[in-house]
Amino acid sequence: MTSQYDVIIIGGGHNGLVCAAYLAKAGRRVLVLERREILGGCCITEELWPGFKVSTAAYVNSLLRPEIIRDLDLKRHGFQMIPRNPSSFTPLPDGRYLLMGPDRTITLREIAKFSTRDAENYPRYEEMLTRVANFLEPLLLQTPPNPFSWRPGNLWKILQIGRRFQRLGIPVANEAVEILTAAARPILERWFESEPLKATLATDAVIGAFASPSQPGTAYVLFHHVMGECDGVRGVWGYVRGGMGMIAHSLASAARSYGAEIRTQAEVIRILVRNGRVHGVVLRDGTELHAPRVASNADAHVTFLRLVEEKELPPEFVEAVRRIDYSSATVKINVALDRPPNFRCLPSEGVGPHHHGTMHICPDLDYIERAYDDAKYGRWAHNPMLECTMATALDDSLAPPGKHILSMFVQYAPYHLKGTTWEQERDRFADRCFDIMEEYAPGFKASVLHRLVISPPDMERLWGITGGNIMQGAMSLHQLFSFRPVGGYADYRTPIRGLYLCGAATHPGGGVMGACGYNAAREILRDG
Ligand SMILES: Cc1cc2nc3c(=O)[nH]c(=O)nc-3n(C[C@H](O)[C@H](O)[C@H](O)COP(=O)(O)OP(=O)(O)OC[C@H]3O[C@@H](n4cnc5c(N)ncnc54)[C@H](O)[C@@H]3O)c2cc1C
Repeated sequence: MTSQYDVIIIGGGHNGLVCAAYLAKAGRRVLVLERREILGGCCITEELWPGFKVSTAAYVNSLLRPEIIRDLDLKRHGFQMIPRNPSSFTPLPDGRYLLMGPDRTITLREIAKFSTRDAENYPRYEEMLTRVANFLEPLLLQTPPNPFSWRPGNLWKILQIGRRFQRLGIPVANEAVEILTAAARPILERWFESEPLKATLATDAVIGAFASPSQPGTAYVLFHHVMGECDGVRGVWGYVRGGMGMIAHSLASAARSYGAEIRTQAEVIRILVRNGRVHGVVLRDGTELHAPRVASNADAHVTFLRLVEEKELPPEFVEAVRRIDYSSATVKINVALDRPPNFRCLPSEGVGPHHHGTMHICPDLDYIERAYDDAKYGRWAHNPMLECTMATALDDSLAPPGKHILSMFVQYAPYHLKGTTWEQERDRFADRCFDIMEEYAPGFKASVLHRLVISPPDMERLWGITGGNIMQGAMSLHQLFSFRPVGGYADYRTPIRGLYLCGAATHPGGGVMGACGYNAAREILRDG
């Protein structure tokens, strides 16, 4: 049977769009099918209330690979970064605060307010991260080797990684292994003594993870979050002008310019397989579409346990997919504000520099640990860690004049609550978060115009991410690199010939990086 398309992509998340753009650029006839009415998956901007354009899920960018921005000419398609300086503000209950950012002089002066030793160590800590990043970064755009294969090409890949690792030399290799495997807390405690600094840095180690900074694997999450760049400056996070949805918009525009067809409100309900080979998909309205290759941007659980019939897959593969950890403890609260929060420790008329970056409510490491402990026992944290950003401080295109949007990324609040439900707890939890903001910024509650509270089950329903896990599967050690999504299938291929994964379920995982879609496109092209 001849098909109208060479490749069908299930899902118009940013990775699906990256994959589509590269395939179309290489001359393939590509069709993207997105279940929602909007493209971008977790990388979207929506007008939630008249005049307020909200990046409903992801809210800051750093990870999007510069190679993709360049190859697809995304700037021409509307993508523009807004750097943040300062980029981080941690108000403290005792009236002090810590400001940090790309400006080295200000950062060191601020850290020295709490500890001169920490200020001396900080540049060396950043150098250490850079050394490890230099080793790991090239792996982001590589297909992981298969540890179970003796094929010469695969063994060659393993050897090359081993040789690069050896060349690091023993001291740096030790640092790298610690970053890859250890807990963030002991590393931060070795380098630093001041609690506000340690807690601020630790937020990166637990973002999106149902883990405390004391748990092994969190150092890698911390590292994952410093591996990006903003306009060429490493480790810096910025806003996207017009909101995160502009990333999806520019990718879709690039993909279309190369000839890709993109349909929204086109939910795939089944992947068609015959004799172990994919041959198309079925949409919710019953339409059958055929192609010799299908790439799924949905997570592994959705792809293999919902869209493919179980009999088409080896039982041990199905078991491995069932074992994937999708635990989540993240709630997103999107807020429209009448005015910026006026912090007790740094009062301001209107927008101040401290509103530019991420505002962290987590004064010390134990605060984060205790918030995690609540969630561990099935309760939402009574004192949660709040990561707040107000993109309107630097982008006036997102809200009516003088008004603001505040993104509150909150941890920890588990998907499964003990003895109650999210229907009952959603607003109680948001009220508690607002009470905490009120303590730090009196008048906050009175400034709230609208709010949208998104619990882990809401995320699953809205964005199709299993368990509400924001990374399409935990970024823990046993689910990284050659074991993402499961061991033996980290090369974007699946047990079904012609069926690929192209989303965050694959190496290098979650975040708006585009690397999964990029790598999947390369493998699909390699197969002809
Ligand atoms: C609340 C939240 C905050 C975050 N904050 C940040 C941040 O600030 N910065 C950052 O870098 N990362 C952040 N992340 C993580 C990041 O957004 C995701 O890891 C990333 O967007 C995943 O992209 P993806 O394209 O692989 O998958 P997704 O975004 O999950 O896209 C998958 C797409 O497939 C579609 N789909 C699924 N099933 C079907 C079907 N059957 N038929 C058709 N379509 C289907 C979905 O609707 C969706 O559009 C955040 C995530 C969340 C949820």
